[in-house]
Amino acid sequence: MPKLLYLEDSYLKECDATVISVKDGKYVVLDQTIFYPKGGGQPWDSGKIVKENETYNVVYVGKFSGDVSHEVDKTGLRQGDKVHCILNWERRYKLMRSHTAAHLFASILCTGTGALVTGNQLEEDKIRFDFSLEKFDREILEEYINKTNELLRKDIPVKWYELPREEALKIPGVIKMAEAFPPDIPRLRIVEIVGLDKQADGGTHVKNLREVGQIKLLKAENKGKHNRRAYFTLE
Ligand SMILES: [Zn+2]
Repeated sequence: MPKLLYLEDSYLKECDATVISVKDGKYVVLDQTIFYPKGGGQPWDSGKIVKENETYNVVYVGKFSGDVSHEVDKTGLRQGDKVHCILNWERRYKLMRSHTAAHLFASILCTGTGALVTGNQLEEDKIRFDFSLEKFDREILEEYINKTNELLRKDIPVKWYELPREEALKIPGVIKMAEAFPPDIPRLRIVEIVGLDKQADGGTHVKNLREVGQIKLLKAENKGKHNRRAYFTLE
């Protein structure tokens, strides 16, 4: 199992690594990685893997049977190679800010209205948010965006840590999406916005709400009887 450095330190922008295996010349597994693989509503990280003077662009990162596979844009990497990894930090940092914003907004909206989150997808320039709510209009959303923005101006820390599964599942609201229920693993990773929200989550987040900035609503849609979809973005 490779070491997933992004789970401990989401601010790590570079690391050294050794190539464990290469499949079809372009799918590279490393002994440790800073690249986040697509999953849990968060897109993959892009960036570069450098070997001596040769640069391989990372175009996709996915998780396959426990391994993080880095798809690079050309062949040449071999098992045993010592490489240096460099993250596209601008993209990743935006995704971290968006991810923390999405948790906060979900928590505020669900607590305030009883809405249930049914889906959540981050993109580099917007956040899609699906939820189930009977009474709905744009004003309700604007109200909760404003509440979220008020909190985003405060100095509130965000932390992540592991808990034994049983203990984690006792936290109210720790699982926001039924279908995204974490697989049967003994310890769950919790992302906590201190005093406001705790969620089981494997994504990368900022360390303080102040880093997010402000968010604004782009679009709200009705998707069937109680199903709503909203897009928002970082300002
Ligand atoms: Zn999340």
